[in-house]
Amino acid sequence: MDQQSKSLSQLTQVIEGKRDDLIQLTGDLIRIPTLNPPGENYRDICDFLATRLRASGFDVELIRAHGTPGDCGAYPRWNIISRRNGKHTGDCVHFNSHTDVVEVGKGWTQDPFGGAHIDGKIYGRGACDMKGGLAASIIAAEAFIEVFPDFHGAIEISGTADEESGGYGGVAYLAEKGYFTPERVQHVIIPEPLNKDRVCLGHRGGWWAEIETFGEIAHGAMPFLGDCAVRHMGAVLDKFESDLFPAMAARRTDMPVVPEGARSSTMNINSIHGGQAETLKDSTALPSHCVPDSCRIVIDRRFLVEEPLDQVRGEVKGLLEELRRDRPDFDYAMRELNHVLPSMTDRDAPVAATVAAEIVHVMGKPAEFVASPGTYDQKHIDRIGKLKNCVAYGPGILDLAHKPDEYVGVDDMIDSINPHFPSNLTFSRLQRPLMCYISVC
Ligand SMILES: [Zn+2]
Repeated sequence: MDQQSKSLSQLTQVIEGKRDDLIQLTGDLIRIPTLNPPGENYRDICDFLATRLRASGFDVELIRAHGTPGDCGAYPRWNIISRRNGKHTGDCVHFNSHTDVVEVGKGWTQDPFGGAHIDGKIYGRGACDMKGGLAASIIAAEAFIEVFPDFHGAIEISGTADEESGGYGGVAYLAEKGYFTPERVQHVIIPEPLNKDRVCLGHRGGWWAEIETFGEIAHGAMPFLGDCAVRHMGAVLDKFESDLFPAMAARRTDMPVVPEGARSSTMNINSIHGGQAETLKDSTALPSHCVPDSCRIVIDRRFLVEEPLDQVRGEVKGLLEELRRDRPDFDYAMRELNHVLPSMTDRDAPVAATVAAEIVHVMGKPAEFVASPGTYDQKHIDRIGKLKNCVAYGPGILDLAHKPDEYVGVDDMIDSINPHFPSNLTFSRLQRPLMCYISVC
């Protein structure tokens, strides 16, 4: 056995020996309820991580994203970045996890913030998305440092805010401040729960806009004396049905988006509202009779790497302009709410190729490259940080994210270290060659 493989089997042993630590750490993270919105306990989870990572020899910085959406005295947007330099120069591998979790929702049989460990599963909101991934990256880094104390390069671990609401108080802010430049960081792994045998290369783009149609208020008994904004909006929706939806469905991307249906362009109509404000929940008051002079919808358009954003915007605007030309009294306003460009890391990029190679090695089959239908923090690393060498890979089952009784499997995080369980490929296992990757580059 050569030195390298001896060290690798030692690493496997060390990780296995940290099983209880991993369970404890994952539970501890779940027990800090970092609900977003409103963005609770970010400072607490950063302090907890800081204590842990300092003890493991990391330099730690806590950074508040002042002035970003939702940042205020009651709900400050705190982030943590930690770095451990090796003994020699070399590349930096960065593991980025978001610390926020979405609302609990109904239907739980477990305490969503209890972090209970039952039959090899750790339960709680954020267990798979993505405190399990965060814990796995910490344990793997600590094990790696133990076995390879003389490693080359650097390891960074970050815990960032607000991914679930766009990442503006988290990765976007840090990228703006220069924490994700190619000079500082060379490889990024985001341990989102994309399933253990897949490498996620990126995501589609998103464009959100509000469209308002206008009318003229009048008595509901004489609607012909006014102009109904809701009927105008009906014409907009008809246009979408007849022209836009078929056109989007016909477009197919070369991005390996899963599920299959998301390999086309899609659009959701998030909401529609016209006329008077909704009556209060307990009110028994009846509405007065009026022709609505305004109707609004919010659209959520997801687009492909092959579609320029201007084309996406222009297509909707073009249909609205057609209506303005053809439909009597039609008038509208369109207001962009937000946009995110698609991101796609090359399959041959070092981080993607290394992770994929280890999947082949362990699973005995080609790695599945996928792309996500929705966005995640890679968008900021790509667009603001200008860092293209980034993938999402982590333990956990994607379908459990945001669901009741969310859990992460301990075996998914650790058992695959053991060569006798090759089908249970885990983050820790894939992390091994990545850590080795640091040591050889
Ligand atoms: Zn997530």
